[in-house]
Parts: sequence; structure tokens; C-alpha cells
Amino acid sequence: MFESLTAAPPDAILGLTDAFKKDPSPEKINLGVGVYKDASGMTPILDCVKQAERRLIESESSKAYLAIDGNPDYARHVSALLFADQVDAARLATVQTPGGTGALRVAGEFIKQMFPSSRIWCSRPTWVNHPHVFAAAGLDVREYAYFDADTNSLDFEAMLSDLRRVPAGDVVLLHGCCHNPTGVDPTPEQWEALGKTLAARQALPLVDIAYQGLAVGLEEDAAGLRSLLDANEELLVCSSFSKNFGLYRERVGALVVLGKTGDAARTVLTQLKRIVRGNYSNPPSHGAGIVTTVLDDAELTSCWRRELAQMRDRINGMRKLFVERLKAAGIDRDFSYIQRQRGMFSFLGLNREHVEQLRDEFSIYIVGSGRINVAGITADNVDRLSQAIAAVL
Ligand code: PLP
Repeated sequence: MFESLTAAPPDAILGLTDAFKKDPSPEKINLGVGVYKDASGMTPILDCVKQAERRLIESESSKAYLAIDGNPDYARHVSALLFADQVDAARLATVQTPGGTGALRVAGEFIKQMFPSSRIWCSRPTWVNHPHVFAAAGLDVREYAYFDADTNSLDFEAMLSDLRRVPAGDVVLLHGCCHNPTGVDPTPEQWEALGKTLAARQALPLVDIAYQGLAVGLEEDAAGLRSLLDANEELLVCSSFSKNFGLYRERVGALVVLGKTGDAARTVLTQLKRIVRGNYSNPPSHGAGIVTTVLDDAELTSCWRRELAQMRDRINGMRKLFVERLKAAGIDRDFSYIQRQRGMFSFLGLNREHVEQLRDEFSIYIVGSGRINVAGITADNVDRLSQAIAAVL
């Protein structure tokens, strides 16, 4: 049977990592996959994580299955980080998921199965895996305007105008902070307007928040999500600890559904559990155990907040340095927007030919859309990178 199959194309982002690994150049630079790297180019394990793991190994007494919806203490911490005390916990249905991607997939299946005629609207552009995950769940994926490539900023008028045409009952995906791939987020006033527009359209917001704490701070980065609560009584949130805890391979995320009432939330939870049971049955324990151990302990929590601030500060420092070095490389273009973009990613305004030339001639790996992972820049590679970009431009 397999003889007749054709090969699937490599993943647009993870495929790039494979090509990077095969490149023999000692000067190669990987700005592709969205993984944090420290000043020496390593993706470190946080100290708070190491400490929590030691405690877990000592205290864990069983490897029996977790519940279908995961660890309730973990769920409590997830909702506190997302909403602080702004919602009644009884109105929340939370499932611990394998990463943010797992949360998106469960959300997609929930929407498809409960509301078969609802479509999902994603920003243009969005994380390449969004349409893939939602289409795999059977959803009809649509786009709304988001980014103005000419000004390298949010085209808010076009965005609102598209969202004003979304039919009632459709779902609108918003990036909670650190928009992937553009690094361009709405302002607080724009978030407020978005909340009102979605409520007026009777559209359901789905907030994907995979970078909380990597733009300005844990509270600040949740402000957009929280402001949606002013006008919207129901919403979905997909969260991830891959980036802000550096727990990528441990697969730690959550889907949180806010209902109008406790009764509605309890019903939603039964459906989410049914969907999870038919998918991965129940979530992996270790990563969420680490997060829970850290957040249960005041000292480990402050250690985490410190380490998160260090990651954030390094990324913002590299943004500043990169803008300076691009200028020093003699490029006649205003790159100051790189410093205004938030989180790990920047859109440099490079086209596909530039990206290919950077890979083939300079061993610099960037996603085809021209998105770079700013966390891949270091004091050691920033000059070579800036000069290569000057050369291809
Ligand atoms: N959402 C966005 C916007 C992302 O960029 C990512 C990861 O790159 C995710 C969700 C999912 O992350 P994970 O499944 O690794 O937790």
C-alpha cells in the first residue's frame, strides 16, 4: 500500500532546523524555529526548572495516569496567570494539554464538533501551524487583514473592517501577545475595540497566548486578553509554557474555556474530556508537574520570574543591537521598527529570494516569510548577520 504514496513536504519551520543541522559551516546561524537561545547560542534549562525536577524525582510516588483533564493544581495556576482574579473560577473549564499545539487542536475539535457551521478566522499572516492544526480538526479556516508590510505595523482599520464582517457564531483567533510571525501587537485601546467588535458580531474569541512574559511582563502581556472580558462573556484560551518556562519538549499547555455560568463550564468540560479521551487519552505529567512545583513555591516562583525577565531583557537588548549593527552595515533603510516589535519574532521585510540567498551563500537560516527569531542573535553573530543582510539587500 505504501508504494503508491507521495512524500509530504518538510515542515516549513522544523524542516529548516534539519537543513541547519546538516550545514557544515562553522559560522552558520539559525534564526528559524522559535526557541529561546542565550548569549552563547544555547537553549538552557532554567534553574527553577532544574530545582523543581529534583524535588519531583524525590517526591513522585507513582506513574499512574493523570486524569483526562490533567492536574487540577496546574489548572489553577494556569487560570491565575491568565486572568489573575478577574473571573470566577467556577466559570472556567480547563484541560492540561500536550503543549499549546495540543490545546489548539482540542479547541479546534471542540469547535468543529459542537458548532459544525462555525468557521475560524486567523490573522494574515499567522503562525504557519495555525491553519494546519485547525484544518486537521476539520475547520474551515478564513483570514482577516492584520499586517501592513509597507509600514511594518498593524493595519488596524483593515483588521476591524474584516472582523466587522465575521458572521455570528464564527471563531476569531487572536494572538495574546508577541504576535507570531510579525512581532506586532494591538495597543490597549485597540484590544478594547477588538473586544467590543467581536461582542457586537457575536463572534467567539480564541486567544492563543504562547509567549506570556516575553514582551513586557507576565501581567502586562495578559492585559489584552483580560480586556476582552469587559465585553465578552465567553472565550477560549490556548496557553503554553514551552517558551516562558523553556519546557519545549516536555509539552506543557492548557485549553481554558470561559463560560457564562458555572453550569455551562461544567458541561463544556465534559465535552473537552470526551474529545481528549479520543485523541491522546490523558496528558503527559512531567512538564506540568514542574510548572506546578515552581508556582506552588514562593522562592521558585521568584526565581522563575527573574529568569523570565533575563530572557526578555536579552531579546530586547538584541533588538536594539541588531538595529544599530544594520545601520553600521550601511543599509539605507529604517529598521527602527525592529525595536518596537515584541517577543521573539521580527519581520525584516525580506523576500523569498533574500531568504534563499542568506541560506545558500551565508548559511543563515530564516523562515521563508522573512520572519527571524531575534533570540537566535548573539553579540558574536550580529555583525556577520547584519553584513549578510546588507549584501543580499
Ligand atoms: N502558538 C503560537 C503562536 C506559537 O508560536 C507556538 C509555538 O511556536 C505555539 C502556539 C505552540 O507551542 P507549543 O505547542 O510548543 O507549546
